[in-house]
Amino acid sequence: MYNQQEIDKIRYNSIPEQKLLIGSKWVKAKQGKIQNIISPINGEKISEIQVSDEADVDEAVKSSRAIFEEGQWSNMPPAAKKKVMHKIADLIEGNMLELAVLGVRDNGTEINMAYKAEPGSAAETFRYYAEAIDKVYGEISNTSNDFVGLIQREPVGVVGAIVPWNFPLMIGAWKIAPALAMGNSVVIKPSEAASLSILRLGEICLEAGLPPGTLNIVTGNGRTAGQALARHMDVDVLTFTGSGNTGRQLLEYSAQSNMKRVYQELGGKSPNIIFSDTDNLEEAAKVSAMGIFRNSGEVCVAGSRLLVEDKIHDEFLNLISNFSSKLKIGDPLDIQNDVGAINSESQLQSDMNFVKKAETEGGIVELGGKRVHKETGGFYMEPTIVSSVKKDMDIFQNEVFGPVLTVTSFSNEEEAVQLANGTSFGLASGVWTANLSRAHRMIKKIKAGTVFVNTYGGSDNTLPLTGVKQSGNGSDKSLHALDKFTDLKSVWMKL
Ligand code: NDP
Repeated sequence: MYNQQEIDKIRYNSIPEQKLLIGSKWVKAKQGKIQNIISPINGEKISEIQVSDEADVDEAVKSSRAIFEEGQWSNMPPAAKKKVMHKIADLIEGNMLELAVLGVRDNGTEINMAYKAEPGSAAETFRYYAEAIDKVYGEISNTSNDFVGLIQREPVGVVGAIVPWNFPLMIGAWKIAPALAMGNSVVIKPSEAASLSILRLGEICLEAGLPPGTLNIVTGNGRTAGQALARHMDVDVLTFTGSGNTGRQLLEYSAQSNMKRVYQELGGKSPNIIFSDTDNLEEAAKVSAMGIFRNSGEVCVAGSRLLVEDKIHDEFLNLISNFSSKLKIGDPLDIQNDVGAINSESQLQSDMNFVKKAETEGGIVELGGKRVHKETGGFYMEPTIVSSVKKDMDIFQNEVFGPVLTVTSFSNEEEAVQLANGTSFGLASGVWTANLSRAHRMIKKIKAGTVFVNTYGGSDNTLPLTGVKQSGNGSDKSLHALDKFTDLKSVWMKL
């Protein structure tokens, strides 16, 4: 693991101006435009990234296409490919603290979470898909005896990946590792608000022996670089994690360009339902609090809507408010703190505005609601709990993506289901009950890609992350993710 001294030793390391990774070279954007990277810890500039435009993106896609066609990676024997992917994982693990601290300086996640969720999870993801390389087979169909029917999986070619700022390395690995495992080349665009750890991953991939061009990295803003990637005529598949608004635009770009397949992991407004027969309400309150307040609520699956059976409403509200009021908010690189910084000033203002609007609509702020540590220059907000929230309120319907929990009461199972399914999202959900039959009934009725039962927020590579309704399509993680990055080819062979 790590200690505070080790963090303090590297937390002020200077970070050189960042470049784009095209082929084997680190290059400046053609137009010479750069953009400051502002740390959410103290609002200070820590480095600069290149601002790519269409020409830079085009070069990156051409580089990915060329290496794909040449076959250094796409035709590399499985055992050799697997070695490279494991080496990437080894190098991530060998640089865990450096990668975690770099990422935290860029996006503000508390280090205790970032260490495991960013490099920790990314290394596991590369290993998981490295192991899939020589274990996922094609199929032989049971067609008539005069023929042999083969179903082969083939790489799609060039994969475009666009990722957000909340967990760039973890989410980046969810896209890059399965795409590479299936033999594709990748062009990734991280968010302008958190590019550093993905850029460092680019160095690691080259060091591990990934043929140059197999992974290209373009930085800059979504409207220009992201759009250029999504509209590119030679990108075969686009895999995206981010907001629904951007997701909608990506579908348009696809329709207006080469109709590339677009796989999306979008936002959530996940219900966490507490029934009065829950075994241990105190434990449920603690887990539910961390299910929303970790990473300042900047988690796609955050359990942001607490639905509580009316019989225990007041008791549970007290329990969760008491626990949450003791969480320590502050410098995300201080290992004593439970909750770090909000990613940006604009995200902080957006979070606060949601709370203000909720108050005007009848919500009651039970805890928090305020900006804190303003004197640091950083962006921090108290864990906030708003009760008396009704289904038609803005804060019930829309994703805050901040440390804000809403509380709504229900009187029976049917009402709980109606409230749970009463938004346009369908990413995650939680159900707390000691009644196994009720748990199964709820699992069936809740429209969400994930249901946590008597827990909230666990994750590893063995289970897919899937959004339904307007939370997305296709899956990240698990072997199911491979489907996004392969085409099926049917072979009819006459005997
Ligand atoms: P955005 O949709 O604003 O941005 C996501 C990515 O898309 C960024 O790289 C951004 O670039 C880029 N982008 C923005 N506009 C365009 C465009 N017009 N064309 C192409 N690319 C574009 O989301 P946030 O970064 O604000 O991330 C938060 C959202 O992500 C939340 O809704 C959250 O729920 C969701 N999310 C979903 C997860 C899931 O697995 N379902 C996991 C994590 C987050 P730039 O920032 O540089 O402008």
